[in-house]
Amino acid sequence: MSDQRQTPYEGVTLIDHPLIRVKLTIVRDRSTSSEQFRRELRELATLMTFEVARDFQTVARSVDTPLAPYAGADLARPVIIAPILRAGLSFVDGMLQVLSNASVGHIGMYRNEQTHRPESYYFKLPSHLSSAEVLVVDPMLATGWSATGAITQLKEKGARHLRYVCLVSCPPGLRQLRSAHPDVPIFTAAIDPELNTNAYIVPGLGDAGDRYFGTYSYETSP
Ligand code: URA
Repeated sequence: MSDQRQTPYEGVTLIDHPLIRVKLTIVRDRSTSSEQFRRELRELATLMTFEVARDFQTVARSVDTPLAPYAGADLARPVIIAPILRAGLSFVDGMLQVLSNASVGHIGMYRNEQTHRPESYYFKLPSHLSSAEVLVVDPMLATGWSATGAITQLKEKGARHLRYVCLVSCPPGLRQLRSAHPDVPIFTAAIDPELNTNAYIVPGLGDAGDRYFGTYSYETSP
């Protein structure tokens, strides 16, 4: 994938590719079924992982092919995928398709619907946090407060090599996360124009968790 774009936001990479644009259109479409939404989100996660991992360091690893020795490569650091519950879970299977040795940690943050601020209720990460590439994932970067809180917790527990991966972001979320954690690169497939008063991204795709898990009520659209 060669169409990776820098954005007006320092440290933010917009992953732009025809397949990603097509799949993103399908998941944005309100008439897409949960079944197809899940499948497309998984595939988007796989496609995005190629760019997220583009500058992962490698170390030499020699193997013997059936014919001769071969000087190959291995990843220099173990990888931890750290989904922010619950919508972040939608990215895990897709990322594991190409990071099959990765560990998966879980960060429980939920959004207080009155304050729109995150509350932490669960944090379970493997003990090799400080040596690993940690990919914090959540499909939607809305206000940026959950992402900020999750990364603050990860740093407190020793994480040193962090990247944040989301499908759709917006200027307020990008500004918030960049100002709180300027050392953490952000990868996103779209930067939408705005947040509405309920802190949903517009046009966005609605509630990613509800659509992925099929708990969406069409009477109460955001
Ligand atoms: N979370 C979502 O699932 N969607 C949004 O638009 C914002 C936050």
